[in-house]
This record gives sequence, structure tokens and C-alpha cells, in this order.
Amino acid sequence: MKAAVIGAGTMGHGIAQLAAMAGYNVTLNDVSDDMLNAAIEKIRWSLGKMNEGGKLKESIDSIMSRLSTEKSLDDALSAASVMFEAAPEMLDLKLKLFKIAGAMAPDDALLATNTSSIPVSEIAKVVPKPERVIGMHFFNPPQLMPLVEIVRGQKTSDGYVKAAVDISKKFGKEPVLVNRDVPGFIVNRVLARLLNTSCALVTFGVATIESVDSALKYRLGFPMGAFELADYSGIDVFYLVFQAMKERGFVMHQCSLFEEKYGRGELGFKTGSGFYTYPAAGKYYRASISRDAGAQVDLAMLVAPAVNEAIWLVREGVSEPQNVDKATKLGLGYPQGILEIGNEIGMQRIMRAIYKLREMTSWDEYEPDTLLQEIVLSGTKLT
Ligand code: NAD
Repeated sequence: MKAAVIGAGTMGHGIAQLAAMAGYNVTLNDVSDDMLNAAIEKIRWSLGKMNEGGKLKESIDSIMSRLSTEKSLDDALSAASVMFEAAPEMLDLKLKLFKIAGAMAPDDALLATNTSSIPVSEIAKVVPKPERVIGMHFFNPPQLMPLVEIVRGQKTSDGYVKAAVDISKKFGKEPVLVNRDVPGFIVNRVLARLLNTSCALVTFGVATIESVDSALKYRLGFPMGAFELADYSGIDVFYLVFQAMKERGFVMHQCSLFEEKYGRGELGFKTGSGFYTYPAAGKYYRASISRDAGAQVDLAMLVAPAVNEAIWLVREGVSEPQNVDKATKLGLGYPQGILEIGNEIGMQRIMRAIYKLREMTSWDEYEPDTLLQEIVLSGTKLT
């Protein structure tokens, strides 16, 4: 069994490691020797850590012996039964790579993209057999994060969906099926609403950065506050993914604070400042956020648009309630799924909060989904 991983950066090296651990002979492809060498080093380091924690079933050397690097894309693809594409998030580049993959990989190879925002169907158009193109959206770092969103394109066949699910399980992951390739899939849509609304509450003077983050961490038990997370992952990363989603029809007024930080290059800990300031660029430390700061924040307003988005995903048949909750728990580390949080707060309060946000911002996206309205009217729950 041979796997080709295209792009040896943040995601690619992690996916290559998972594939090698699962028994594949992996060829890691990149345009840069430096990236390939760095990827091999990072994989060896990560395997070392896993070994120390007793998490490896075989020796590091035997796993590493299944990994090779190759700068020629044609050679990397030859004889591969599966390709994982993890090149930068640029449509033209992905189209070019999939065109080559469609021609050079074996006819029946599964061709998976790790894109965060580009619809799978758009990429599949350049492949002669588009039924084998699928999204396998791993989360960072792939070695540790349990979720993989399996994203079905318009033409992806059931057989290839099953193959992607099986591969994810072989990698020790929890696959969640995304039935339609809507921009941002499940997790990034929910997250976009949460981050943008957190930001709106601050720009409209209803809360502060610290109070929002405190409420999310200490009252809802999220692993990080919204602004903390943006600083940690990179304000540019979210800004660009959300822009790409918007270009494809996701309705969202980009909150101005995000735009300003992005424009000024204050991107989070990697640049030394973002929403918080850091002692030195590239040195992460946890911002100090007081436990009490978030006591007055209206939790319903904070999460209502994310809950509403989850309800939209269900009504549109993109996913089922249990899977939306599973994806938000595993992909974002929330202690409860986003719909469970909505149920706990009460859907009536969620709906009222959306109206309040609409009044405050005049943003069109703050509109209760028709299914939310039905749930509130009938007093039922989504389960
Ligand atoms: P990255 O910039 O860290 O790595 C991309 C790699 O691709 C680089 O090593 C680059 O040299 C290489 N590359 C560029 N052109 C290439 C080509 N023509 N052929 C082969 N390799 C090429 O990017 P990343 O963060 O690993 O993201 C990769 C993909 O995964 C993107 O689509 C991104 O949206 C998605 N993704 C990223 C994250 C994340 O948190 N970083 C999470 C989920 C999904």
C-alpha cells in the first residue's frame, strides 16, 4: 500500500506520519528540499515523543523506514493507492496538482484534499474520474487532533466515501461525514460565527476581549477564548479562511477588529502581538485572563450565531445533529457539542439573542434559521 502526501508543511508532515504509522509506504512530496528535510526531522521528533508516552506499536526506525521524500510529483504519485494533498490554500495550485494527479496516479487511487475552504467539487472538475476526489479535512496537529471531516463532493461515490472513512479509522481518527461541500464544512462555519460574534461584542462596546475570553474559558469550558485561539493559530489563518468562505457565499460581515489586526500584520504570538501581546515574536505564552472578567457576558449572545449555524447545517442536510456536536467537540475541544450548548441555554434565549445582535449590528447574518424558529415555536429539541 502506497500513499503520496503532497506538501510537507504543517499539515502534510503530520498526515505522512499518520499514514506511515498505519502501515503505508509513504512518499512525501514538496517543491523544497528544506521543507522535506524539516518534515522528516519533525516526524522523527514527534514519533520520539509518542514513543516516550508508550504510544507506538513498533520501533521508530521501522516506521521511518516506510517514509521517503520525492520532489518529482509524477514519481510520488506513481503506484499510490491514495493521495493526500496538503499544499497551500490556493485554488490555482490545487487545480494544477489535481490535474496532474488525475493523469499520473493509478486510475482507482483515492484523491483527497485537506483544503479548509475550497469546495471539493471545484477541485474535482479537473480530474477525469471525479468520483474519487474527496475532502479529508484533518485538524492541526493531525497527529493529535482526533477529528477528520470527510467531505463529499457533488460527484464523490459511496465507495470512495467508505474508503476515506476506513483510512481515517486506520489512522486512529474519528471521521465525521459532511454530506455536501458547503464553504467551511462544519467546524469552520461554527467557529467563524463564534469568532466573529466575539469580535462584534467587543467592537460594539458590549464586552471586552478579556471578558469574552474569560466567559468562553471559565463559564463554557472551551479550551481557549476566541481571541486567545485567534492569536494562537494566527489571525491571518482565520481571516483568509473566512474570506475564502465569504467569496463562496458564506454571509458574514467581517468584524473590523480582525481586519485591522490582519492589515497591521499583528497576527498573534508569531508576530509578538495580536489581540494580546507576547514577550517575543514566536514565543507562545498563555495570556493572563481573569476568571471573573466574564461574569457579566451574555452567553446566549456569544454563542447564538454558532448554534444557529449548526441548525442551518442540519436543516440543509449537510450533517446530522449528533455529528455536528461530535465535530465541534472533537475539532474544537468543546466539552459539549454546540447544539447541546444551545439546548442547555435554551433555544428561545438563543433566538432572542440573535434578534438582539441584529438590532445591535444590523448584520444580515443575524437571522434565526427557519428550523430554529420551528423548534422554539413547537418547544421541541434537535437530537
Ligand atoms: P503549509 O504552508 O505549512 O505547507 C504547505 C507546503 O506545501 C509547503 O511545505 C510548501 O513548500 C508546499 N508546496 C507549495 N507548492 C507545492 C507544490 N506545487 N507541490 C508540492 N508542495 C508544494 O500549509 P498547511 O498549513 O500545512 O496547509 C495545507 C493545507 O491544509 C491547506 O489547504 C490548508 O487550508 C489546510 N489546513 C491547514 C490547517 C492548519 O491549521 N494549518 C488545518 C486544516 C487544514
